[in-house]
Amino acid sequence: MAWVYQRARIEALDGALVMGQQRLGLYASTIRAALDRFSYLPATMALDREVIEVLGGHPSQAAALSAKLETINAGARSASLYVMDRRGVTVAASNWRTETSYVGNDYSFRPYFTQVMTTGTGRFFGIGVTTKLPGYFLASAVRTASGEIIGSVVVKIDLETLEEDWGGGDGAVMVTDEDGMVILTSRPLWKYAVDGPVTTELRRKLDATQRYGAVPLRPLERQALLQLGETARLEQVGESAFVAQSQALDEEGWAIHYLADWEVMESNVRSTAALAGLGWVAFILLLLYLRQRRLVLKAKLDAKETLERLVAQRTEALSAEIVERQRTERHLRETQDELIHAGKMAALGQMSTAIAHELNQPLAAIQTFVASSRIFVERGDAETAGANLTMIDDLCRRMADIIRHLRVFARKSPVASQVMDPAASVSRAVALLAVRLRQADVDLVWAPPQGLMVAGDPGRLDQVFVNLLANAVDAVAQSPARRIQVDAMAVGEDVVITVADSGPGLTSDVADRVFEPFFTTKDVGEGLGLGLSLSYGIIRDMGGSIRVENRSGGGAVFLISLPAVGCEGLHVTHGK
Ligand code: ADP
Repeated sequence: MAWVYQRARIEALDGALVMGQQRLGLYASTIRAALDRFSYLPATMALDREVIEVLGGHPSQAAALSAKLETINAGARSASLYVMDRRGVTVAASNWRTETSYVGNDYSFRPYFTQVMTTGTGRFFGIGVTTKLPGYFLASAVRTASGEIIGSVVVKIDLETLEEDWGGGDGAVMVTDEDGMVILTSRPLWKYAVDGPVTTELRRKLDATQRYGAVPLRPLERQALLQLGETARLEQVGESAFVAQSQALDEEGWAIHYLADWEVMESNVRSTAALAGLGWVAFILLLLYLRQRRLVLKAKLDAKETLERLVAQRTEALSAEIVERQRTERHLRETQDELIHAGKMAALGQMSTAIAHELNQPLAAIQTFVASSRIFVERGDAETAGANLTMIDDLCRRMADIIRHLRVFARKSPVASQVMDPAASVSRAVALLAVRLRQADVDLVWAPPQGLMVAGDPGRLDQVFVNLLANAVDAVAQSPARRIQVDAMAVGEDVVITVADSGPGLTSDVADRVFEPFFTTKDVGEGLGLGLSLSYGIIRDMGGSIRVENRSGGGAVFLISLPAVGCEGLHVTHGK
C-alpha cells in the first residue's frame, strides 16, 4: 500500500511541475503581448511630420504636438507618450497639462536615451522619475531626411495591471530584470527586492540611472532547499516554502519565476495520490469482491449438490417406504378379505337355523310326495304320481335356489371392481335373507329402481346389505310393528341407499361406536361386532360413505352414499 501511495505521489508531483511549466509559458506570452501591443507606436510617431518639424527647429508647434500626443496616448491607452530632442529634453508630452508633465524635463541620464541616440531604438524598465510610477519605456529615433537622428519618441507602458491578473492564484509570480531586481510580482512585499547579492557596484549603477528612484535596495531572501528534477527547485522564501520554476524572457536578462506554494502543492499531491491510492484500493477491493463472489457461487453450487444428494436419498427412502406401505396395504387387504369372509361365515352361522328350517320344509314335503307317489304308482295312478313328481321337481328347484345363493355368498372371491347395479345387490341380499325375514315376520318394503350404477365388487356390496338387513331384522324383533324399508335413488352425482327400520334406534354412545370393529351390544354367540366395521371399509373402498341416524318416527336409518357412474362405466364428473 505504501508503495502504491509513493508511486502515486511521484506521479502527482510530476503532474504539478508540468503544470507549473505551462503556467510560466502563459505568463511569458502575456508579458510579450503587453509589450508588443505598443511597439509600433514610437516607430510610427517618429515618422510624423509635426514631430519632425518640432524637433527640426519649430518649437512653437510643441503645444499643438503635445495635444496630439495626448489624444493618441488616450486612444492607445499607453501610460504616456512623449518626444525628446537630441539632448534628452522633453519637448512635447501627452501629460503636458498635468502637474507631473514631462515637458522641459531632461531624461538624458536614462539608458534608453543613450540607446536610441546610438542604435535607433531603446528599451528600459524603471520607475518614473517624475511620476514615481514604474513602467516600460520604448523609444524610437526621429531622423531627418538625410538620416540624422534629431530626437526620439518614447512610449511608457504600464505593466502593473499584469500583477493584478497574477494575484489571483496560489503561489507567486515575479519578473526579474538583468540585475535580479524584482520589477513585477504578485507579492507586493517582494517588489524591488533583489534576487541575488546586493553589491556596492549594483547600488552605484542603479543610482546613476535613477532606475528605481529612491527604493532602498534589499535582497529577496531565497534559499534553495532541494533540486526537484531539472526545472524546479524547492526553496524557502521568508516563512514559506515554494517550488520555484523559471523561464527567460525575450527582454535582455529578464526572467519570469513561478513559485508554487509547497503546502498547497503538497496537499494537492497528497489528495491526488490518495485518490490514485483509492483507485488501487478500489481495484484490490474489486478483486476481493470477485474472489468472494466466486467462493459464494461455489458454496451455492456445493449447497445445491448437497440438496440434490439429500433429495435423492430422501426419494430412495420414500420409494422404499412406498414399497413397504404397498406391502402392508396388501397384507391389510388380505386380512380384511379374511375378516369379510369371517363376517360372511358369521352371518351364515346366524342364518343357519333359519336355513336348516327353510331346507327342512321342502325336504319334508318331498318325503311326503315321494311316499304318496309310491302309493299312487302301486295303484297304477300314473297321472297323480306324475303330478307329484312335478311338485317334487319344483321343491328341488326352490332348495337349489336357496343353496345357490348361499354358495355365492359364502364364496371367498378376490376383489373384482366393475360397474354394477346397487339395487340388484340389495335384491340379492333380500333374497338371501328371505327366510329370516319371513320367520321374523318382518314387513320389508323394497321397490328396486332402474338404471343406478356404481363401481365396485358386487359380492362385497351384497355383504354390506346382508349386514344392514340382518341388523335391522334383529332391531325390529321386539318391536310391535316390524317394518324395514330400503330405498335407492340418485342424489346429485351420488347414489344414495337407505336402510330404515322400525326398531328402537341407537342411543348416542352406541351410535358413536357402531362402526368400530368388535363393537356389539348383542349376546355372546349372536354378534361378533364385525358387520358394520367391514361394511364401513367396503363402502370407503368404493369411494363412498356410510352413516347412521335415528329416524324422527323411531327406529334407525343407515345411509350409504356411493359415487354414481355413467352407463359407459365412466365416473360422473362434477359439473356434468
Ligand atoms: P353385530 O351385529 O355383530 O353386533 P354389527 O357391527 O353389525 O355387529 O353391529 C354393531 C352394533 O350396532 C350392534 O350390536 C347394535 O348394537 C348396533 N346396531 C346395528 N344395527 C342396528 C339397528 N338397525 N338398530 C339398532 N342398533 C343397531
